[in-house]
Amino acid sequence: MQPVDAERARELSLFRPLGYQRNSCGYCKSDNGSASYYTSSTSVRPHHYEELVNCGWRRSGSLYYKQNLQRSCCPHYTLRLEASEYRPRRDQRKAINRWNKFILGPEYMRKAARLCPRTREEKKHRKCNFDVVTAVHESEYSNVKRPVDPATKRPLEPAHRFEVNIEGDSVSQAKFELFRKYQTAIHKEDVSRWKPKDFQRFLCSGLQRSPASAQKSSEKKIGSWHQCYRLDGELVAVAVLDLVPNGVSSVYVFYDPAYEQWEFGKLSAMREIAFCLENDYRYYYMGYYIHSCQKMRYKANFRPQYILDPETNTWDPLDGELTEKLNSRPYVSMSRDRASTPGTPAPAPEPLGDEEQMSLFDVHMPGVMTAPEVEAMDLGKWLLVVKQHFVHMEDLVDWDKTTITSPMSIKGMVAELAAALGPNIVKNSAVDLFS
Ligand SMILES: [Zn+2]
Repeated sequence: MQPVDAERARELSLFRPLGYQRNSCGYCKSDNGSASYYTSSTSVRPHHYEELVNCGWRRSGSLYYKQNLQRSCCPHYTLRLEASEYRPRRDQRKAINRWNKFILGPEYMRKAARLCPRTREEKKHRKCNFDVVTAVHESEYSNVKRPVDPATKRPLEPAHRFEVNIEGDSVSQAKFELFRKYQTAIHKEDVSRWKPKDFQRFLCSGLQRSPASAQKSSEKKIGSWHQCYRLDGELVAVAVLDLVPNGVSSVYVFYDPAYEQWEFGKLSAMREIAFCLENDYRYYYMGYYIHSCQKMRYKANFRPQYILDPETNTWDPLDGELTEKLNSRPYVSMSRDRASTPGTPAPAPEPLGDEEQMSLFDVHMPGVMTAPEVEAMDLGKWLLVVKQHFVHMEDLVDWDKTTITSPMSIKGMVAELAAALGPNIVKNSAVDLFS
């Protein structure tokens, strides 16, 4: 048995298999319309999470899941855009310009135009070029010019002091109260629904983070962070971000409902794209996209946008052709359509019995390895954590006597987890069944 030293142990992600489940759908309100494979973990390496996201996984706190798009009422498609390709639409530019005007205020803008006027070149350049990085930072207090106003002999102040900071995904009373205000006003949830503990589990217990402090280092940030928006010293919005080596993944954004008119969904997305450009993250992930959900259409307006093919894990532009297909049926795999005879509609998946009682291998979930593929891996060598020590699966009693397709056995559960995670993650992770 290969020893696992401390350094190697730190490089491993840990997963506990939870299995395939059907659940109610929050979008169309069906009782059991959504089906996903679930695993939980409090220790996922960000570069492993990046690989999982690129295979259609998402996380909610320490719960990680991959939806079965083919057998769900409202398929969750993974979205991604390349930050350097992004071209803001008119309504997006307008949203940020409106916000900047609100922060600076008419009096400041009038006086500033007189006290520190822009040159003709500057004016011309601004009129013809919209730069997303410049625009998102324009009204931040540290960037606002404050010339001395001759009338008052004091520096000219904007109408509001606007500041944005990034910090670890820790919980605070102010964040919790803002979150609860947002959930009750915007999502019409009952005020008793959320306790600080649930909030912490949902948005404050993400990926391992580095560097340890946000201020200290210019090192590229990795892991789960909160981008906090403060207006006149008060927390008004929080964007929860997962930073992975090549991308920024938006987890959630919540804001003070009093500022709903400012379209924080748009503002935060533009800020996060600017963050990608400034900090060398290539991709921006806006979370999942449900075509039938009107509230999500704004995501498709961040262009050029790409959608993950659930079967091949390749990316297709979310444009006319794909949109048309999504208008006519919930499940679309462009690769499958390309491979099939033109004009023949994709066959509907065969009805299954009780999927939750079946082996995942009999569900034939798109993007999950088949039983023979898992059989060909050396699953017996996969690491298992037992009381903070590592053993191999094959060290378990009766490991060799059970088959991977018996869903209730440990071997069956472990094999399903392997099938969903894929071979590379299996090589760089351990299973945590008992702690
Ligand atoms: Zn649904």
